[in-house]
Amino acid sequence: MQRYEIAIIGSGPAGYVGAIKAAREGFPTSVIEKGDFGGVCLNKGCIPTKTLVASAKQLRNTRRAADFGIDLKGPVTAIFQKLNDRKESVVDIEKKGLIKLVENSGAEVIKGQASFVNKNVLKVSGAGGEKTIHAQSIIVATGSKPKNLPFLPFDGEKVLSSDELLSLDSLPESMIIIGGGYIGCEFASIFSALGTKITIIEALPRLLMNVDEDIVAVLNREFKKEGIDILTNSQIVGTKVADKVTVTLADGTDISADICLVSVGRRPSTDGLSAENTGLSILPDGAIKVNEQMMTNIPGVFAVGDVIGNPMLAHVASAECKVAVGNALGNHFLMDYTVIPSGIFTYPEIGSVGLTEEQARTAGRDVKTGTVLLRSLGISHASGEIVGMAKLVADAVSDMIIGIHIIGERATDLIHEVAVAMYQGMTASALGYVIHTHPTFSELVSEAARDANGGAIFSRRLYA
Ligand SMILES: Cc1cc2nc3c(=O)[nH]c(=O)nc-3n(C[C@H](O)[C@H](O)[C@H](O)COP(=O)(O)OP(=O)(O)OC[C@H]3O[C@@H](n4cnc5c(N)ncnc54)[C@H](O)[C@@H]3O)c2cc1C
Repeated sequence: MQRYEIAIIGSGPAGYVGAIKAAREGFPTSVIEKGDFGGVCLNKGCIPTKTLVASAKQLRNTRRAADFGIDLKGPVTAIFQKLNDRKESVVDIEKKGLIKLVENSGAEVIKGQASFVNKNVLKVSGAGGEKTIHAQSIIVATGSKPKNLPFLPFDGEKVLSSDELLSLDSLPESMIIIGGGYIGCEFASIFSALGTKITIIEALPRLLMNVDEDIVAVLNREFKKEGIDILTNSQIVGTKVADKVTVTLADGTDISADICLVSVGRRPSTDGLSAENTGLSILPDGAIKVNEQMMTNIPGVFAVGDVIGNPMLAHVASAECKVAVGNALGNHFLMDYTVIPSGIFTYPEIGSVGLTEEQARTAGRDVKTGTVLLRSLGISHASGEIVGMAKLVADAVSDMIIGIHIIGERATDLIHEVAVAMYQGMTASALGYVIHTHPTFSELVSEAARDANGGAIFSRRLYA
């Protein structure tokens, strides 16, 4: 039996980051993967989607080249196969680099499906047969899977999960997207740029329910301008899958399209893990229960990433696994969720960190906001990216920043300045004093900070 200090099940952004950290500290470490190295993030999530987002962006910009004084001859078209080839090649390059990084750290990559024999022993079944390994500590980082709709199950042809949508070999003329969360919205944005007619069906009152209302209003407007149909407050009462997928709504409307993406969330994945052999505590939604040290109810067994539930984000998964590794090696680190930035890579893109105005008020906080429109900055016109805004939320009494929400060019990067400010407990006025380079998109952040105290030159209020 092979023996390790730490064995990690799953090689997603939780598992590979944890393995590198543990091995670099000199501890015998293995990471076990039953599928493609790199997990959902590298193979079916962050990286392939953002590669397609980059193609869609390039396409949108090329189509309006004339606005920038560039004369392009002939029609601008996307070649779906080439887009997909690029996506595969980006994933491949990244995967080779990651495997090298893990191996160079000294961690061992074991291929196969891991299942618990007991709290220290795993059975690994792979192409080469079966083996057992022993580890002082085991970290479960087995990720998540797309949720199915019982009345419209995935069939891999017409009714697709996000995994399957990424493997399409031809561009559909039309697509229904059930679920207006970030995955549904990102795919809507990508496929709409490529020429697919998109209809989003959402049961809740708006898209992206966790995102600031004003920010979502901008996205809604831009989606509609692009020809994306958005049906909110829409209950599905019937479905038919034939040549087309047809969805009937409660008001009697029928919507038909070539294919349907079901993106109604993801569920933690403990399939095949034989968690019952250790007595691991699993919550009703399937997530493994952990404390803030990432410890499960079984001493020496930790769980991290999507398998412990929300927020299901790659960078959160990595941060959790670093905490778990530290604690497996005898420390007492706590996972800190107070500052978690997140990006939604639609066009225009959205970046958020901290509470929205609505969330803060619902939590009983007295808040003030600073709002600035992107079009008030010189850089937005120079760059041809005038759509967007920033809304900074600060405590009305202490002036401490409690969130920022940005839509527009570079939003997913801009939020990190505020993430750092929040981590350091900065006030809006302190952030507003910091001189920002002109002309840059970063002025949106400093102006929003100043606007929270009425001192913005380009305040949205003054344009009204
Ligand atoms: C379409 C899409 C786009 C996304 N975009 C973003 C984004 O832009 N930014 C972001 O932060 N997040 C994004 N996410 C979410 C992100 O991919 C996940 O939060 C992240 O991958 C979770 O990492 P993880 O390590 O917990 O699990 P995963 O990445 O799911 O990895 C788990 C791994 O464990 C393996 N495994 C499972 N069971 C076993 C077993 N018994 N034995 C061996 N191996 C096993 C699986 O094969 C898998 O490779 C996206 C997700 C999707 C679906």
